[in-house]
Amino acid sequence: MNSSKTRIVVLGGGFAGLNFVKHIDKDKFDITLVDRHNHHSFPPLFYQVASSEIDPSSISFPFRRELVKKASGRVKFHMESARSVDVSRHCVITDHGSIPYDKLVIAFGTTNNFFGNDALKDEVYTLKSNDQAIRIRNEILYRCERASIEPDREKRRRMLTFVVIGGGPAGVEMAGAIGELKRYILRRDYPDIPLEDMTVSLYEGRDKLLASMSAESSETALKDLKSLLVDIHLGRQMKSYADNLLTFDDGSTLYSEMVIWTAGVTGRPLEFEGTDFRQGRGGRFPTDRFCRVTGLDDIFAIGDVNLMTTEEYP
Ligand SMILES: Cc1cc2nc3c(=O)[nH]c(=O)nc-3n(C[C@H](O)[C@H](O)[C@H](O)COP(=O)(O)OP(=O)(O)OC[C@H]3O[C@@H](n4cnc5c(N)ncnc54)[C@H](O)[C@@H]3O)c2cc1C
Repeated sequence: MNSSKTRIVVLGGGFAGLNFVKHIDKDKFDITLVDRHNHHSFPPLFYQVASSEIDPSSISFPFRRELVKKASGRVKFHMESARSVDVSRHCVITDHGSIPYDKLVIAFGTTNNFFGNDALKDEVYTLKSNDQAIRIRNEILYRCERASIEPDREKRRRMLTFVVIGGGPAGVEMAGAIGELKRYILRRDYPDIPLEDMTVSLYEGRDKLLASMSAESSETALKDLKSLLVDIHLGRQMKSYADNLLTFDDGSTLYSEMVIWTAGVTGRPLEFEGTDFRQGRGGRFPTDRFCRVTGLDDIFAIGDVNLMTTEEYP
C-alpha cells in the first residue's frame, strides 16, 4: 500500500461499511475493510433464509468479488473479528494480530440484547447473521422430519412448539414465516403431521405488535399473523428460560424446545486501550454531525452503532 496516503480501517462491511468503502476516494486514501465474515449479507431477509423461503446465497455475496467489481480491487480485505482498539498506538487488535490506522471507521452494527441475562444466548435461537438463520432453518426442518415419523402425539407436539420472543419487525416476520410453513406447507410436504400438532407463538411485552410503527401497521400485523395461525400473546414478558421451560412475568410457563429471540439489539461491545472512553446509550457510539466519535480522536462511527442525537431527534 502507498504509505503517503491516509490509512482508513473500516470495521464491518454491512450496509454502512460497504457503502463507505465503495464511495470513498481511493486515490486519496488507503482503505482496509475488516469483517468477521468473508461475505456481505442483507439482514432484512434473514427470516426468509430461516424459514427456507430463500437460499442464503440469495442475500449474500463475497466481499472480495464486490471489492474487485466496485472498487477495482483497491480496497484491502481482512477476515477478522475486531477485539479492541489501542488509541495510543492507533491500531485495531484482532484475533490474529493488529492493524494500524490513521482514521478508524466503526461500522460493525448491533448484536442481540439479552438485557443482562447472557446465559440465554446458549439456550435460544437468534437471527443476526446468515449462520444463525441457517441454524434456525436446519432445526425447523429437522423437527418437522422427526415429528413426521413420531407416533407419540405428545412428543410430536413438543417437537413442534415454536416460540418467538419479541413483537418488533424481526419477530413479526419470523413468526409469520413459520406461520406460513404451518398454514401452507405442512399439509403438502408433511401430510403425516396433523396441523394442530404444530404451534407457533409470539410473545410481546408491550400491548401491541410493531410498537415503534403506526397503529395501522400494528393492527395489520396482528390480523395477518392470526390468519397465518400464529398465537399472539401481548403484554407478556419472558422472565426466564431453562430446561426448555419458559416463565413469563405473570408466573405462567410454557414448554418449548425451540425459542427464537428477537427481543432487542445493542451496539457490539469494543474495548479501548489508552483511554477511559465508554460506549453510550444502547451500546452506541455518540458522534457529532460528521460521525466523529465524541471523545476519541480519528475515530468515526456509522450505521446502526452510531448515536447522533440532536435537539430535534433526542
Ligand atoms: C432480522 C433483521 C431484519 C431487519 N429488517 C430490516 C428492514 O426490513 N428494514 C430496515 O431498514 N432494516 C432492517 N434491519 C436492520 C438493518 O439490517 C440494519 O439497520 C443495517 O444492517 C445496519 O447496517 P450496519 O452497516 O450498521 O450493520 P450491519 O449491516 O449489521 O453490518 C455489520 C457488519 O459488521 C460485521 N462485524 C460484526 N462484528 C464485527 C467485528 N467484531 N469485527 C469485524 N466485523 C464485524 C458483520 O459481519 C457485518 O458484516 C433488519 C435487521 C435484522 C437483523
